[in-house]
Amino acid sequence: MEKNVKDIQHYINGQFVDASSNEVFDNYNPFTNEKINAVASGDNEEINQAVSAARKAFQGKWGNLKLKDRLAYIYKIADLIDEYIDEIAPLESYDTGLPISQTKKMVARAAHNFRFYAEMVSSRLVGDAYQVDDEFLNYTIHKPVGIAGLITPWNAPFMLETWKIAPALATGNTVVLKPAEWSPLTANRLAEIIDKAGLPDGVFNVVHGYGEKVGASLVAHPDVELISFTGETTTGSEIMKNGADSLKQFSMELGGKSPIIVFDDADVDRALDACTWGIFSFNGERCTANSRLYIHENIADSFIERLKERVQNIVVGDPMKEDTQVGPLIHTDHYNNVKSYIDKAKEEGCDVYSGNVPEEMNRGNLIAPTILLNANNKMSIVQEEIFGPVIAAMTFKDEEEVIELANDIRYGLAGYVWTKDMQRGHRVAQKVDSGMLWINAQNVRDLRTPFGGSKHSGIGREGGHYAFEFYTEVQIIHVALGDHHIPQLGK
Ligand code: NAD
Repeated sequence: MEKNVKDIQHYINGQFVDASSNEVFDNYNPFTNEKINAVASGDNEEINQAVSAARKAFQGKWGNLKLKDRLAYIYKIADLIDEYIDEIAPLESYDTGLPISQTKKMVARAAHNFRFYAEMVSSRLVGDAYQVDDEFLNYTIHKPVGIAGLITPWNAPFMLETWKIAPALATGNTVVLKPAEWSPLTANRLAEIIDKAGLPDGVFNVVHGYGEKVGASLVAHPDVELISFTGETTTGSEIMKNGADSLKQFSMELGGKSPIIVFDDADVDRALDACTWGIFSFNGERCTANSRLYIHENIADSFIERLKERVQNIVVGDPMKEDTQVGPLIHTDHYNNVKSYIDKAKEEGCDVYSGNVPEEMNRGNLIAPTILLNANNKMSIVQEEIFGPVIAAMTFKDEEEVIELANDIRYGLAGYVWTKDMQRGHRVAQKVDSGMLWINAQNVRDLRTPFGGSKHSGIGREGGHYAFEFYTEVQIIHVALGDHHIPQLGK
């Protein structure tokens, strides 16, 4: 596969096309840092073309399809993803450095996203009815909003793209996707799949390119009704400013620095498993990673010793190998950024404990799983999102203190509490300022349940009926049941 990945074009109005400027950017393999291919680099021109195609499809063929015919396309996309799963997962690992054992699971979830929203739409398009009195019947319907602009990150690209595309299309919108520039391969594969599914031209469009150019142009476009964004907090804020003139609706899934709190009565074996998985899976490039560890002081020494053992045993290496547990970081820029945080941790007074990168694997963007010991909440490495396989370890003495420590941060995406005292579990869970909190569990997801962050970690929720509501406009229809009184002007 490595030698045969073709160059990538935009997908606009049912056609794969080069950039009108002919500009491209290079895409790199994170394990070798060799060039994989060239990717069309878009600008205003392509966004205008894609939005115009999406508008035409929304007002034409797609907008006029019967619901069952629209949903048949959505099921078809899911079937095709399943058919190509063995091809998509390696492509994702090759492009992002995520271990193949983990991308296989993520890609399977992508097909589920389409089926789930096809089913939800068929059961929820029915609105509410209000028989207000004997003169009026009012009812609501859910209509598609129009053109959905979807802007996605590189850390689980295929899954996160489909998480937005599936509800957007199933509810009847048309889509312009702007995938992350560091991970374009599977977005392109998805365009090929959707093309094969035979959706009418213009329903789904992909414009590749840089965020400040293509992303910003999509956000500013007056015909785009909504933006669903997943990425960094600072980018989210910039997008909200740029979309304000055209009064966009926004869904924002942003950064995180989530705490894992381990009390001294916790099931330590399971807490250690969850802690290890939560920070080191997906190379630590995970929004819900438990990157702040708070351990009760009674068990801190033994917990840390056992965490160190686990870190030593993590298999770091080639993401294409089944037994690899941590692969290379997405890009040299990001690698340098994570490295600089580890250096900063030393400057701020942490002891740095690192696992192993085997000698023969010492290349690309591989970074050893790392524990930052003796950290505290005042340090920038505790307050800022590092987005790599790096965990800051701290201790606490009681419940009150740990809640304060957990909340002493601008982020509020996820949290994890480990204790056998379930009253305490619930108490702490409800006091931690996070959009999501797991008690005695790792980050288990269920698409029926909402997902999202509070504080600077997000606005709104995705998943379940929340996504359905975001991608639809509620219209209220008022029907007179008889000749009710109509006031006369001036009387
Ligand atoms: P990023 O913000 O740098 O980029 C995300 C996307 O936004 C990319 O497609 C990029 O090209 C585009 N973009 C950049 N500048 C833009 C602009 N001015 N206007 C419009 N679009 C622009 O994020 P990233 O580095 O790709 O992803 C990592 C971040 O994503 C982390 O902070 C992580 O926590 C977050 N994330 C959050 C969730 C969640 O559900 N909360 C999930 C995954 C990732």
